[in-house]
Order: sequence, then C-alpha cells, then structure tokens
Amino acid sequence: VLKRTPLIAGNWKMNLDHLQAIAFVQKLAWSLNDAKHDFSTVEVAIFPPFTDLRSVQTLVSADKLEIAYGAQDVSAHDSGAYTGEISGQFLAQLDAKYVIIGHSERRTLHGETDDDVAAKVKAAIKHGLVPVICVGETAEDLEKHGQSAVPVAQLKVALDGLKADADVVVAYEPVWAIGSGQAATPEQAETVGAALRAVVAESLSADAAAATRILYGGSVKSGNIAGFMREPNVDGALVGGASLDIAEFAAIVRYQK
Ligand code: PEP
Repeated sequence: VLKRTPLIAGNWKMNLDHLQAIAFVQKLAWSLNDAKHDFSTVEVAIFPPFTDLRSVQTLVSADKLEIAYGAQDVSAHDSGAYTGEISGQFLAQLDAKYVIIGHSERRTLHGETDDDVAAKVKAAIKHGLVPVICVGETAEDLEKHGQSAVPVAQLKVALDGLKADADVVVAYEPVWAIGSGQAATPEQAETVGAALRAVVAESLSADAAAATRILYGGSVKSGNIAGFMREPNVDGALVGGASLDIAEFAAIVRYQK
C-alpha cells in the first residue's frame, strides 16, 4: 500500500511582500524546528505571491529549510507575448515544487474555465511542477446539484489527457467554505474526497489514485484540522486566512500533537 504523506499548504493569496515573506518563513521555520516537527511525516508548503518567490528561494536554500513552496497560478504558455503572465519554466528555475491551479478566486474573479485549468495543469507538469488542482462547488451548485457533482466534473476536465502516473495534488475547496468561517464537515470532505479519488483512478490509474493527496480547503483552523485529518480520503489541507498567522499555521501543521 502506498503511503500518502499528508500535506499542509498555506495559500497566502495577495498578502505579505518579499520582505515580510522572509521574516515570516524564518519565524515559521524556527517555530516548527523548536517543536521538532518531522517534515517527513507532514509536508509543509507555502504559496506566496510571485514577487516573493526569489527571496523565499534564497532563504530556503541558504538555511536548508524543509519548507516547500510554490506559486498561486501559472501561465498555460511557455514564453512569448502574454503580458503579465508567468511561465512554469520561470517557477521551476526558482525551485518551486508546486503551483496552485484553478483556485476559486481565479475562476470567479478572472473568468478561468475548466479548459484554462486543464491547459495550465499540462503546462505545470511539462515544467516539472506538481499542480495543486482546486475544485469545489458554490452554494448555488450545492443546492442545485448536490455536493460532489461540480467538483467531480471540474476534476475530470483538469485530468483529461494526462499520463497514468501523473503527479498531482487535488484540493477540494467548497466555495461557500472559503474565507467564510463556515467549514465543511469532515464527513462532507470525506464524501467528496472519495468521489475525487475515484475520478483520479478512472482518469489516470489505480496507482495514481492511491498516491494522490486530496486536500480539504475552506476555513481550516487549528481547532478543526484534526477532524478532517482523521478521514481516510483527506490527506491534508489548503489553508488561506489561517496560513498568515505563524502560530496558527504551525498548530495546523502539528495537528497530531
Ligand atoms: C483558500 O482560499 O484556499 C482557502 C481555503 O481560504 P480560507 O482558509 O481562508 O477559507
């Protein structure tokens, strides 16, 4: 049986400039080191704004930190006349490991479609980045279609045409739970997590389904993380607001304690 290392991921959104990022990452590393956090049992990743990534890379490599990092978006294109876009190649050169793709804020505020998400997932993989593919239903979807239908449909498009052994992370983030303080229940996260794992099995392979981390996201805090992590189809969390508070984020990482 393949072991899935839990992943706690912090999405900073448009917060913390490159100087604040350095101070934050340093303090987070101290806090986790003081607590003797074992990064091999729970992986930690942060997703700062693009303009912070070079500074984060410098700090992480100089201090040999085990904190992984990634970007919050990536272009579907490699290079060229795409003003304002960032290539996966540039992110890979900064030693980014992950990239968030299809966050609900990109979908709703920037009109990203399922096809855009699929193109970005392919671009990320091409450049050796692991896509953190975000899916989730709005409150209206939930009422009309139930909980799993929309995230399942979104994930099918995102995984279409990938190799059977593609390395991806899936983040189930009900839109109604993001930044609302109203998290889904662990049971809800488990139900959708299981449905999403079945999509990975069908679209990629049984091995990929066994290896793929499925995260829950939406108002995760130190007080509710343990309940999610007890579920067999929840392999970590994508944390927004609470990832900006070092003590709170460290407590989420240390949910087993
Ligand atoms: C997010 O935006 O990915 C998220 C989960 O936000 P929050 O934790 O603030 O609900």
